[in-house]
Amino acid sequence: PADADLDAVIKAGIRDIPDFPSEGVLFKDITPLLADPVSLRTVVAALAGPHRAGGVDAVVGLEARGFILAAPVALELDAGFVPVRKAGKLPAETYRESYHLEYGTATVEMHVDAIAPGDRVLIVDDVLATGGTGRAAVDLVRKAGGTVVGFSVLLELGFLSGRGKLTDVDVSALTAA
Ligand code: AMP
Repeated sequence: PADADLDAVIKAGIRDIPDFPSEGVLFKDITPLLADPVSLRTVVAALAGPHRAGGVDAVVGLEARGFILAAPVALELDAGFVPVRKAGKLPAETYRESYHLEYGTATVEMHVDAIAPGDRVLIVDDVLATGGTGRAAVDLVRKAGGTVVGFSVLLELGFLSGRGKLTDVDVSALTAA
């Protein structure tokens, strides 16, 4: 990261929970960061910063923790907020994308009318792990005719090589572990 203070703020605000939600997973819990007013404002500003002059029309948040970050980033950028949700949660007509998990598959959806052709779209989530969710979100936005201007996360788990699935996208992480 370019900014050592930002790196420290994020690292201080994320705690490791071993074996959650299942054995062998080291869960990165961002709730301490969200609960601290200065940290919250700092990370929202840092996520929005590179896109201030970028003419972003919509900020897509990935369920569920991506919602929390994407909505204030959208406000900072005078953009709208669009949810990408797990299958079966969105009420109107949707586009769907499925991807492989270690065991089984996952499906995410976005409303077909959430993004207009030509819209410039920033995608936001808390953690980039294997990249499957991010990949699916990028493909959903493109199905709708949107242009993905970036995929931004607080934390990238580098050892899972999620970036490798997103080589056609401008991926940006505020910090890495
Ligand atoms: P992935 O599709 O593997 O990149 O996983 C990304 C999604 O799963 C994000 O929405 C994260 O919030 C969540 N996630 C995956 N691994 C972790 C982890 N170790 N700690 C916290 N969240 C995670």
